[in-house]
Amino acid sequence: MGTFVCKWPSNNRNEMKIQSVKHLIGLLSIVVVLSSCLNSNSNMHKGAGGFDVSRLEELENIVPIAILGSGPAGLSAAVYGGRAGFDVLVFEGSLPGGLLTQTTMVENWPGNIEIMGPEVIKNLKAQATKWGAKFSLDLVEKVDFTQWPFKLETADGHQIYALSVILATGATPRYLGIPGEKEFWGKGVTTCAVCDAPFYKGEDVVVVGGGDSAAEEAMQLAPYAKNITVLVRGEKMRASAAMQQRLKEFAHIKVRYNVQIKEVLGDDVQVTGVTLLNNKDNTTEHMPISGVFLAIGHIPNTAFLKDAIKLDPSGHIHLPTRTQQTTVEGVFAAGDVADDRYRQAGVSAGHGISAALDATFFLNEIGFNEQHQSDIKRSHRLYVPEAESDYEIEEIASLAEFNQIIKTGKPAIVDFYAEWCPSCMQMLPAYAAVAQDLHESINFIKVDADAGQEIMKAYKVEKVPTLLTFKDGKLVEYLPKTLTKRELYALADTLK
Ligand code: NDP
Repeated sequence: MGTFVCKWPSNNRNEMKIQSVKHLIGLLSIVVVLSSCLNSNSNMHKGAGGFDVSRLEELENIVPIAILGSGPAGLSAAVYGGRAGFDVLVFEGSLPGGLLTQTTMVENWPGNIEIMGPEVIKNLKAQATKWGAKFSLDLVEKVDFTQWPFKLETADGHQIYALSVILATGATPRYLGIPGEKEFWGKGVTTCAVCDAPFYKGEDVVVVGGGDSAAEEAMQLAPYAKNITVLVRGEKMRASAAMQQRLKEFAHIKVRYNVQIKEVLGDDVQVTGVTLLNNKDNTTEHMPISGVFLAIGHIPNTAFLKDAIKLDPSGHIHLPTRTQQTTVEGVFAAGDVADDRYRQAGVSAGHGISAALDATFFLNEIGFNEQHQSDIKRSHRLYVPEAESDYEIEEIASLAEFNQIIKTGKPAIVDFYAEWCPSCMQMLPAYAAVAQDLHESINFIKVDADAGQEIMKAYKVEKVPTLLTFKDGKLVEYLPKTLTKRELYALADTLK
């Protein structure tokens, strides 16, 4: 950290008084040292008032290390931050556990020959919890890095003062932006094979993309779909040689090159086909299929940071040095949100560890110590997130019983989920919290996709998670996606 290491070159200062040549050398070295100090600091944005820990006495809702994101980067940072003795709060984000929860077998997580993606996350979370990390499903929507402690504002309306921040918000799947894609989202168009593959038993589907994700999606579909065609827009796949070799082991997976989808077609229920453009000869063709699985890369989740911190032209967080330090001193970044090159779970974890060590060095250097931390705790000025709801939501499997509840006319929000669907399991805590709050005016019902197939068929639910809302005994909305706690509250408002 430049601010703490730049010192006046005292030896040269003495010699300057004696000889003019030495004077010149001394002057030059001062210029060099000063300019290197200025350069290293020019990227730093020191908060107004500096890092004066005595100011903490005036504040409430303090968090020594706030981590935004709970993928391998965020959770590894939490393990190290907690183990260093600091109170750590992890904001889990809108996809708790991150993208790794949407994969199946991982063969390149160091130390495990094979391990399921969700298992990696479960283990890391347990390890972070053991070291005292706390977790929150609330979303950080706004950050103010112009003041220190840094101010974080959440969707639930909390204002939190973080002494250091680790940004590990990951990335979101990219979309094609073609006609039909939005219209048939959740009705045949999806980005999550691990969530949706079981709904495509015996069907023909396409996977779009030529990277490792596309290869993995195709293999996740292999036990279910009849024919899987991977559509690659260029001459070759970008996926690793090992992944491409594995694809060849499946007779019903084919790869087609130089093709792009122009339009997704469907009827009033779901996707029925796509219009394909051949990039070589510009011809188009109709391809009848019932599922489009997108795997065309990701966009870093930095939209909420664009005025707060320097981003690279690609939208990733800019890291000016070889540490995890961002352009704001005391704010660090790790994982896919700051990595346009490696994008591997193992690398994210490593960078998460570095970020936590950087945060620890920073806290030590500004003089934040155990005494400060215990004072904050003792005077109840440490921010403690709400505990997870343990509200038991009614679960229905029979269509007759389901219809009877709907017929009462009381508004209802129904969550179709499956235990094998990671995003379903991630939404459940938020759904339970809202249900606990609003169950007197709204019926909250869970339907397990395996046990409640009768209900799924009757209401044409094609994927999980899907939320249906009912009012006065009638279906109002069909939402085939994951909602955040705030979005669930907004949905409940529509039923009032
Ligand atoms: P990549 O960026 O590696 O690949 C994206 C693919 O989508 C490319 O083939 C690209 O084509 C294609 N594409 C992009 N835009 C379009 C479009 N509009 N229409 C059609 N095709 C398009 O992303 P991935 O998500 O596959 O991988 C991200 C990272 O995660 C990589 O580092 C990868 O190695 C890693 N990963 C590793 C896994 C593992 O090891 N098991 C599993 C999954 C991911 P083009 O090549 O022409 O640009």
